Parts: sequence; structure tokens; C-alpha cells
Amino acid sequence: MIDGKNMNEEMRPEIPEREPERQYYFMELAKGFLSEYSERLKHPATYHITTFGCQMNARDSEKLAGILETIGFVPGQSEETADFVIFNTCTVRDNADQRLYGRLGHLKGERYRHPERIIALCGCLMQEPTAVARIKKSYPQVDIIFGTHNIYKLAELFCLYAQEGSRVTDILPEAERIVEDIPSVRKYPFKSGVNISFGCDNFCSYCIVPYVRGRERSREPKDILREIERLTEDGVIEVMLLGQNVNSYGKGLSDPVTFPALLREIAQIEKLKRIRFMTSHPKDLSEDLIRVIRDHPKICRHLHLPLQSGSSRILTAMNRHYTKESYLALAMRLRQEIPELAITTDIIVGFPGETEADVDDTLDVIRQVQFDGAFTFIYSKRANTPAAEMPDQVPKEESRVQFDRVLSAVQEASRERAALRTGKIEEVLIEEISDHDPSYVSGRLSSNLVVHVPGGEELIGTIVRARLSECHGFYYIGERRES
Ligand code: SF4
Repeated sequence: MIDGKNMNEEMRPEIPEREPERQYYFMELAKGFLSEYSERLKHPATYHITTFGCQMNARDSEKLAGILETIGFVPGQSEETADFVIFNTCTVRDNADQRLYGRLGHLKGERYRHPERIIALCGCLMQEPTAVARIKKSYPQVDIIFGTHNIYKLAELFCLYAQEGSRVTDILPEAERIVEDIPSVRKYPFKSGVNISFGCDNFCSYCIVPYVRGRERSREPKDILREIERLTEDGVIEVMLLGQNVNSYGKGLSDPVTFPALLREIAQIEKLKRIRFMTSHPKDLSEDLIRVIRDHPKICRHLHLPLQSGSSRILTAMNRHYTKESYLALAMRLRQEIPELAITTDIIVGFPGETEADVDDTLDVIRQVQFDGAFTFIYSKRANTPAAEMPDQVPKEESRVQFDRVLSAVQEASRERAALRTGKIEEVLIEEISDHDPSYVSGRLSSNLVVHVPGGEELIGTIVRARLSECHGFYYIGERRES
């Protein structure tokens, strides 16, 4: 932990104790270090952030970029060419760890070409002591290491590194506080993620998140509303409310507030056109939430509702607190109340002890619910989680066979669901020029389905009406319609 006692004499007396004032102090101080650094480089110092994992990490990376740009770093093209390189890591699945080590190995070989490069690692993997020990031992080129609970301290850590010239490690075992008003740089000017809670209390038996992101903490509603109001003043028309389990939002606040109550308040913000949220744990999805989605057209017609398994036996072993039957009842209730709602899900295949009959139950749920989309994963064993110690770990080859069955069922269901919209006229928020054809732009429906329509750059960030004319399975080609 850095408390100022490591700083030199000129730095120490004025360091504010309160946040975020303290971090703004360090952002100012860092400007001096940055100009020395840029002089040595003989060009304005650039940065690049590589983000692994989920939307929470993506949002954290926007804050890291905001801090770096406030200091004066300019965006770089790639991790190979930038001067300050950050990897915001993930540890939910083993392949994200392996990809990180591969990238670090590559940069190690490049050290002689770019000896002044600064490399920083942060995020979930850094909350695991064994991973940090490995990095310290095998990757001496890593200069700054920090975790999930002190993302906001990047400027302070950069100052310490610049002053000491040796590696800085600052990992907090638990979150000490929620720090508001840290600058951020948005990837899209017209939409933004907004954290409403951090951490998770659910301890699903396969999941590392509660251990690396800590216990659930909700932001005060007034801070969330103020952030969204400011974003809308700055051109944002769509927000994605982020939490590991948004449905349990507000429980720990001194004046508890429910998630549906928060949504009702947010829906009042006039300039805001669309509200999305993720992730919804099925066990906490209330009737009130169903009503609030149904009654507020600004709330997008898309719900991500992780199933994980369709077998009640496996769900118990996963510590998910719902059954096949209760999940099906909930999904049917949603379909009945809000027929146009797209329901997407996550499914894990190959959880310890899973048999072919369990996968048959998962297939049955897929066929009954007809998911609009699904992320399907093969179970990845995470050290120190209860599932890692369970008997009957499923061999990878067996999981792959079951995975293919699940994948083809979800693809068939989502193709059928998408096709139901053919010929309808819907609103599309245009996000970018199409990757495939520069005379087209790409955007998303309220249901989150991608649509490509003819048009140019001037449409980006606007909502247009389009006839969904050609369904290509997971996206549409549309024709613009005047409103
Ligand atoms: S709800 Fe379960 S799967 Fe989601 S973050 Fe919490 S522990 Fe992990």
C-alpha cells in the first residue's frame, strides 16, 4: 500500500487524503514525470490497453484510459508500438491466463527494441497470489502490478514508479471504498457502461469472481443518477448498467433501494433513450423487475439470464439456487409478459459430474425457452473454487462432444428467433461503419440484434428506423424507413 511515506519530500506535504482529490493531485504530478519520459522517448508518450474478459473490465479500462489521457498520454496503435502498455487481465477461464502469458512472452523478446517501454498489469488475475508470484519471477519486464480494487490509483502508481525506477506492486486484498468521479474515455461517444455495483456474494461453486472482485458493494443511487445525467449532457443516449448481479443491487446501502426502483429513476432522465443492464441472476429476478421492463420502453427488450445448466442436480452442485423448473417458469413468465423480449444466456458444459442425461436437460431448456443467443463454454477449472475439488471431473474430449450438441441447439434456436423479426420495422442505434461494406453502417436493435443498413458516418450515434428485410441468422440487412 502506498501512503505517501515512500514519496520524496517535495511530494509529501500536500498529498490529499480524500479520494478522488488525492488521485487528481497525482494526475497533476504525473504530468511532470510524463514530460521527462516523452523527452527521453523524443515523441509524445503513447499508451495502449489490452482488455481481457467481461464488460466490467471493459469499463475499468475506460477509466484507466481516462486517467492516462488526463495525465497527457496519447492513444497508441497497438501493444507492440505503444510506450505505456496495460493488460487488464481476466481469470474466469484458463485460456485468458494463457493468452496473457503468451503476449507478455512476446513483449519480453521486444525489450531490446523498446527499452523505455512501461508495462503494467491489473485486473482479476492480479488478485491471485500465485499468478503475481509467477509474473514477478518470470516476467521482469513488468513494471507496475495492481489489482481490481485500486484501478483508480493508476496515476499514483505511475508517479511512484517514475520516482523509484523499480517495479511497483500494489494489490489490496479487499475493496476499501468506492471512489467516484474518476475520469474515463469512452469507446463510443453515444453509449457508455455505468457500474451500479461491484463484487458478488453468490459464490457459484465454479466461479472465481467473488474471490477476486470481493463482496458485493452497491453505489449510491444519487451517484449513479448524477453520472448518467452528466453522460447524457455529453451526448450519451444509451447506458449499460453493470454489476455481477444487478438484481441484488442496493441491499447493502444504508438506505436500501431495489434494482427496479433504480431503473424507474433512470428511465426519467429525459435525454437518455436506451437502458441496458447485465448480469441478471435468475434467483433474484423479481416480478417488479418484469413489470418495470414491460412498462418502460426505454429499457431495452433484451435480458441476459444465465442458465449455466438445465439439470437441477448440476445447478445444486453449482450453488445456483434455482432449478430447471423454476428457471423455465421464470422464462415463460417473461415471454408471456414481454413477448418481444430477447432472452440470451450463458451455458457451461462439462461441469464436474455432468452426465449425458444432464446435458439432455440443458437441451430441453434450450428448446423450450428458445434463447435468442447463448454464450456456451466448456467448464474451466479455477484453483481454490469448490468445483475444482469435486470428484468426477469430466475429460475434455467428452465435454467437447456434449458442447457440440449444446452449441448446435442454441444456434438453431437463435436462428429461428431472429427470423421471426423478418419484415418488421424497428429502431436501430447506429454504432459504426460496417466492417464488410463501407457503404453500410451497423447498429443494434433494442433486442441487441445487429442490423446493417445503407448509410454513412453521419448516422453514427443516431437512432434510425429500418425494415428488417434479410435475416442472415445472427444479423439482418435492413432498409431505412423515414419515421
Ligand atoms: S453470480 Fe455466480 S457466476 Fe456470477 S459472478 Fe457471482 S459467483 Fe460468479
